[in-house]
Amino acid sequence: MNQLDKTLPYDVEAVRADFPVLSQEHHPGVPLIYLDNAATSQKPLKVIEMLDDYYRRYNANVHRGIHKLSEEATAAYEQARLKLRKFIKARSRREIIFTRGTTEGINLVAQTWGRANLKPGDVVLSTQMEHHSNIVPWQMLATEKGITVRYVPVLPDGTLDMDAYAAFLRDEPVKLVAVTAVSNVLGTINPIKEMAKQAHEAGALILVDAAQAAPHLPLDVQALDVDFLVFSGHKMLGPTGSGVLYGKRELLEAMPPWMGGGDMINRVTLEGSTWNELPYKFEAGTPSIAEMIGLGYAVDYLEALGMDKVHAYERMLTEYALERLEEVPGLTLYGPSADRKGAVATFTMDGIHAHDLAQMLDAEGIAVRAGHHCAMPLHDCFGIPASARASFYLYNTVAEIDALIEGIYKAKQAFAR
Ligand code: PMP
Repeated sequence: MNQLDKTLPYDVEAVRADFPVLSQEHHPGVPLIYLDNAATSQKPLKVIEMLDDYYRRYNANVHRGIHKLSEEATAAYEQARLKLRKFIKARSRREIIFTRGTTEGINLVAQTWGRANLKPGDVVLSTQMEHHSNIVPWQMLATEKGITVRYVPVLPDGTLDMDAYAAFLRDEPVKLVAVTAVSNVLGTINPIKEMAKQAHEAGALILVDAAQAAPHLPLDVQALDVDFLVFSGHKMLGPTGSGVLYGKRELLEAMPPWMGGGDMINRVTLEGSTWNELPYKFEAGTPSIAEMIGLGYAVDYLEALGMDKVHAYERMLTEYALERLEEVPGLTLYGPSADRKGAVATFTMDGIHAHDLAQMLDAEGIAVRAGHHCAMPLHDCFGIPASARASFYLYNTVAEIDALIEGIYKAKQAFAR
């Protein structure tokens, strides 16, 4: 490894040793280089062992049984909620709704707050850089409620057009801003605190998609003053099927429930039902028990490293990756410079389709993503059908980026023949 390593905020080799998948061969004799972290992250041994321990030792339903196993499962599940509250600095554990991920969190807000509060003519202001999960639920609601969905344009440098944002808020009846904190394609870090301030001044609420922020940056929902914030556990070292919807308590209290069923009720008669207190009002049915406990362990891992350090390390990696990628002839990078983006490098190559490139890199043991990354409108903005994306996490190394660059040159050579 090169001299960049002297300034690393933590011992990355020690971190790598915690992730069993990273020491395996991708193909016989070819080590795995996992650069598809924006799709999902790998899991540390502690999380994997926790899942094993849960199913071996204290698997039981929560909030129901009075037997010892159920008490133990409930305590661990609620402990995870406390960890998540602290992780994003929410005021109260009642503001932490457990979901199966970002998609579910956004749909929950659309189907409860949106249905109850929006009327024909109201505007939900999204952006051109959103993941489909922060576009489609609003389009579905538009069909149902007669609202309009508008989109803040993306500038050629991959940032949001903040003048257009201000103009939408000034000129249109915007009731909700639905924006990503970090683009999963461009990596752009959006000015959420400023956007929240402007939204509130215009009388709108703001929902933040933190799927690509929670794994990589310190988050403070009170300092940001956001109304709703959602993220997925599987992108931040936790199991699939785990996620969080944060909402300001007064908003959540006023919202009707979404799914009906067990646990979300206070009393049920054949004539009608009353609702449980927060957060259970929004957690109908048996939840993802093991997965949420696992997410709590993932948060322990991230906090032990320190989110500031994770961010600093990833910025160094991203800066290095962009620098190296810029040198490759025929390669076009998308999104802002490393100081304004998350740990993502998205690019196209002259003469090589992103899928072909990804396939050739895979043969070298390098896992990257190719396609539209669930952001078709954003690809339309840049006039490209698909792109290749290398996305980094706390266990990636400079040497892996060097291997990526070598792999790209190899693919170029093969296609030049
Ligand atoms: N938003 C963003 C910005 C994402 O990157 C993703 C995952 N690719 C999602 C939403 C959806 O997350 P999930 O599939 O975990 O619900």
